[in-house]
Amino acid sequence: MAGMTTDSIYASGFKDEPYWWEAAAPPPINAPELPDRVDVAVVGGGYCGLNAALELARRKVSVAVLEAERIGFGASSRNGGMVSGGIKLASMNLAASLGAERADQLVSEAMSSLPFTEDLIQREGIDADYKRSGRFLGAWNEAHFRGLEGQVELYRRLTGMRAEALPPARQREEIGSDYYRGGLVADAFGSLHPAKYHQGLAAATRRAGAQVIDGTRVTGVARETGGFRVATPRGEVRAKEVFVATNGYTGPVTPWMRRRLIPVGSYIIATEPLDPAIVKQIVPNGRMISDTKRVMAYYRLSPDHTRVVFGGRASFRQVTALEAAPVLHHRMVEIWPQLRGVRITHAWSGNVAFTFDFLPHMGTHEGVHYALGCQGSGVAMMSYLGHQAALKLAGGANRRSAFDGIPFPTKPFYSGNPWFLPIVGWSYRLRDWIDRRAA
Ligand SMILES: Cc1cc2nc3c(=O)[nH]c(=O)nc-3n(C[C@H](O)[C@H](O)[C@H](O)COP(=O)(O)OP(=O)(O)OC[C@H]3O[C@@H](n4cnc5c(N)ncnc54)[C@H](O)[C@@H]3O)c2cc1C
Repeated sequence: MAGMTTDSIYASGFKDEPYWWEAAAPPPINAPELPDRVDVAVVGGGYCGLNAALELARRKVSVAVLEAERIGFGASSRNGGMVSGGIKLASMNLAASLGAERADQLVSEAMSSLPFTEDLIQREGIDADYKRSGRFLGAWNEAHFRGLEGQVELYRRLTGMRAEALPPARQREEIGSDYYRGGLVADAFGSLHPAKYHQGLAAATRRAGAQVIDGTRVTGVARETGGFRVATPRGEVRAKEVFVATNGYTGPVTPWMRRRLIPVGSYIIATEPLDPAIVKQIVPNGRMISDTKRVMAYYRLSPDHTRVVFGGRASFRQVTALEAAPVLHHRMVEIWPQLRGVRITHAWSGNVAFTFDFLPHMGTHEGVHYALGCQGSGVAMMSYLGHQAALKLAGGANRRSAFDGIPFPTKPFYSGNPWFLPIVGWSYRLRDWIDRRAA
């Protein structure tokens, strides 16, 4: 980092935990008594598990969420708070592998996860700083820009909302930077405060009658007549059904699921409060921003528009948030040289879960239900899939979700330890380097 020692990027009072926890920290562990029996035991207390439990409780199904750590420990209180419109699936050519009808249903359901989340936040009165903020997707090279131009019509047709390709000469309408070669601005995209959403959701879930139990790691799920015995170090819960919502934290208790997920660390920093004039200049319209690089960055203003929250894949090895922070700071300054000298107050990380077919999955294996694998874009999608799983469990779905039961691939000899990620990271960085020079 030219002209800057690593130490000087940290503001006094720096914390290596999420900025979001300033407003909504996961509460200390309370570990209430376990119920003997429930209809449904949910493993994992993030957006997915809580959404499932909320809908089940609303339908008068008895349900307990068992969370290993504090409620809000996982990705759901650590993420960037970007609420995707789900349109990415439309560019994945799913028809070739799954047939045109299923592919259309998947796209339409993925897109419905955005209004679903908006409705939920409104219905439950959750104070999550939600906004339909729109997104700017920066093109890493000219070829990427032409690709984005080619997607504008699709965006407009599918969302019925504004989408426009901005050439380099107009890019400063959305970002105070010349880093990209133009980009795509689209209105069908939201933003929220992830930890406030999570905390409000946990409160709504409890209000509806579900038990949300922290400090209780599930260590075994065994079948018995009429249901399951769910083992924890604090005792056993008997459940007619089990729903696994552990995503990037999926462990040895569900080895079949673990073999199908690639846990990947994602890293974020938050800056100190910025001069309001700079804020207006760097993100004039308050959009969520990401880019077309293979080693992509995702960033935004904080909900109160005082600081930058900047995330990315700082490393493909598991490193600490402190090790990742200088890398992210450097990338932020590459995009906005005017932020050189701005210090960071928070740095943190969390796990997302990729799948080998790059699709989220829900389904049932040996009687155990699951919804897993959001490819790092799960605020709306995992909320939606948790809800869908509840409809299925409660018998309330008008029709089966298109995500339900898609073949869930793994690779030979893969057991859940992604030893290959550093190699993937190396090749991604090389491709980014070549892409910028080619095109
Ligand atoms: C740094 C970061 C940035 C991100 N940015 C965005 C973004 O901007 N937009 C977006 O859409 N998505 C983003 N994501 C992804 C998004 O946060 C996740 O997709 C979503 O939160 C997943 O929710 P979940 O409920 O499935 O899992 P999680 O919230 O991860 O919850 C899983 C929970 O399961 C618990 N658990 C695991 N094993 C057990 C067990 N044996 N017993 C009991 N509990 C267990 C864990 O402790 C954990 O709390 C980001 C993720 C990260 C980490």
